[in-house]
Amino acid sequence: MTGGQPDAVVVGAGVIGAAVALELARTGRQVVVVDKAGAAGHGSTSASSAIIRFNYSTFDGVATAWEAHHLWASWPDHLRLGTRRLLAAFHRTGAVLLDSPAAAPADVTALFERAGVPYERWDAPTLRRRLPGIDTGRYWPPKPVDDDGFFSPAAGELGALFTPDAGFVDDPQLAARNLADAAGELRAEFLFHRTVVAVERHADRVTGVRLADGTRISAPVVVNAAGPWSGGLNRLAGVGDDFTVGVRPLREEVHQIAAPGGRTAGFGPVVADVDLGTYLRPATAGRLLVGGTQPACDPPEWVDDPDEADPRPTAHRFRAQVTRAARRFPEIGIPNRPVGVAGVYDVADDWTPIYDRTALDGYYVAMGTSGNQFKNAPLVGRFLATLVDLVEAGHDHDHDPVHHRGEHTGNVVDLGAFSRRRPVGPGSARTVMG
Ligand SMILES: Cc1cc2nc3c(=O)[nH]c(=O)nc-3n(C[C@H](O)[C@H](O)[C@H](O)COP(=O)(O)OP(=O)(O)OC[C@H]3O[C@@H](n4cnc5c(N)ncnc54)[C@H](O)[C@@H]3O)c2cc1C
Repeated sequence: MTGGQPDAVVVGAGVIGAAVALELARTGRQVVVVDKAGAAGHGSTSASSAIIRFNYSTFDGVATAWEAHHLWASWPDHLRLGTRRLLAAFHRTGAVLLDSPAAAPADVTALFERAGVPYERWDAPTLRRRLPGIDTGRYWPPKPVDDDGFFSPAAGELGALFTPDAGFVDDPQLAARNLADAAGELRAEFLFHRTVVAVERHADRVTGVRLADGTRISAPVVVNAAGPWSGGLNRLAGVGDDFTVGVRPLREEVHQIAAPGGRTAGFGPVVADVDLGTYLRPATAGRLLVGGTQPACDPPEWVDDPDEADPRPTAHRFRAQVTRAARRFPEIGIPNRPVGVAGVYDVADDWTPIYDRTALDGYYVAMGTSGNQFKNAPLVGRFLATLVDLVEAGHDHDHDPVHHRGEHTGNVVDLGAFSRRRPVGPGSARTVMG
């Protein structure tokens, strides 16, 4: 380390940790970021589909995604980099959310209207016109592709919600690096290939971290942004007893196929197909990314140790996800060899992240990102900076939750929605859609 004692240590230089570091640095703090990987964005972030969409099951979820979208859409202005660098880019393709009983369209549109998210309601003929080649059949509930029922005839037709402002970020790892570079210009220091093995405390106050090489970094604030390793870091810190929300690492695969018909310019909008349990995202060079929406019929691949998860795509997951995509778009061909990536993310019991203080004063968490928080990362940095500022100044966030007003949308997000102590009930989200 170059300077004296930092004001804050961030554990993890994924898209979340890098965003938190940037916003803490913007508050004038001297920040040190520690990551055991070799560069920013090498954890969950590297496997992300980086889809930017706005449908969540709560107002705070929708308002967060809508505000964060404005930060992606003005990425160079958000970063304020003083030197020229290669930047990740947001591609505004729109997103088509096919109807499903899991999210009643009227509930989704009510939240869109409250948050100010533009949308269009499409019926089946409009879907066919706007997405040529789509099969608009209703197949709910999703089934394993070897199930006899998988190819049963459709039981009716689907409509959809279209949000024209949705899209994707073309290089999630580069986006994390951009945030880290912007933080670096504000004197944040990044220590790579260094692992935090202990969180140090004095009574109920965090005092810093210890690294595997024995280095101690003292700081009054430590932020856990360790992605799927975050539960393990909390155990090292001795926090968790008052959490009502648990987290667990989950392995997920995303596959790559050629867009049908050899379309080199991509495939149009993102398509979220909860009816069949899949999603499609355009990619560069005429490719499509195909992922899953965690349909109940697919056994989840929980892992104990994120480092042990196989990063290679498997033939059976590839066949399941791509066959579902081909059911929806029959022109899609199913290649023999799986191509794609596998990643691990930390799933909260209600698929909603935890952005909060903890019972250990000075120790904060930005975790439980549940496969759906890449899109929110630049705003999460602001959430954490606001929380740290107010809580360190004596604000009782547990009893009087901090609110954040979005710079672009004016929407007010109640950060209590992301509390570690929120109630998790039967009405909570149960899938990656959040
Ligand atoms: C397959 C897949 C698809 C996804 N698709 C989308 C999507 O389309 N849209 C969306 O919004 N979100 C998506 N997500 C979710 C999103 O990518 C994650 O929520 C986000 O990247 C999490 O970022 P993070 O910084 O919290 O975690 P990570 O990127 O995992 O970063 C955590 C970092 O902490 C470091 N670390 C951990 N423990 C220690 C330690 N003890 N010492 C030092 N360093 C440590 C790790 O090396 C790692 O670099 C997807 C995720 C996956 C895996």
